[in-house]
Amino acid sequence: MSEQDEIIVLKEIDYKDYDKILHCFSKKRGRIQVMARGAQKSNSENMSIAQTFNYCDVTLIQNKEMFILINGSVLNSFYRLRQKYENYVYGSYILEILNHVLQENDHQANAFEMTVRMLEVLEDVSANISWYIHAYEIKLISMMGFKPQLEHCAVCGAARPRHIKFSISEGGIICNSCGVMKDSSLTTQESINDMFKLLYVKFEHIATIKEINIEALKLIRKYFNAYVGKEQFKSLKLLEFK
Ligand SMILES: [Zn+2]
Repeated sequence: MSEQDEIIVLKEIDYKDYDKILHCFSKKRGRIQVMARGAQKSNSENMSIAQTFNYCDVTLIQNKEMFILINGSVLNSFYRLRQKYENYVYGSYILEILNHVLQENDHQANAFEMTVRMLEVLEDVSANISWYIHAYEIKLISMMGFKPQLEHCAVCGAARPRHIKFSISEGGIICNSCGVMKDSSLTTQESINDMFKLLYVKFEHIATIKEINIEALKLIRKYFNAYVGKEQFKSLKLLEFK
């Protein structure tokens, strides 16, 4: 039986002479693989759908482990994202993260919608692009169940403690009396406020933020990498060697 779904194409792989296998983020099912028959042929309707980055409305049929693409339409190809190097690399980083964290049959409709909004906004960002990326990281990791504790001590629960430290393993800030332990590092209320800001801000409002503490950005990346279990993503290396 066929069913309608929305997908973001994370990766396309040529298969045999004419087909493609797509790694996709499905709105209904999390990570899925889709067989797009004939997608290597320029006269095939499936060819326009089977492109990395595409956000599509599709009709699929499940066949054992794989889904078969019946038909569909492209809702957004994020065309402008491919025109600017930095925006393109960060867009690729978003797809690489999803390739790494998504599970099969994992219903992540909120993360799906957030990702579509992120890619839409990312098409036209020209300043402070890394703020958007760090906002995406802290929002995504929170949706996955690892929201950092930024208001109370993660150990004793004290509200808005002074002299705070941030602990990756405890999952947030810790107060002075609890702060003699483990992997905690000193931080400031400004950094924590900035993390809080990026956790809750809408992507389209980031342009109105004047300043973000660099330490907040570093803490978010460290926290994110620790909780997704990966030290570095390949696509970000492209920016280092620019
Ligand atoms: Zn405490």
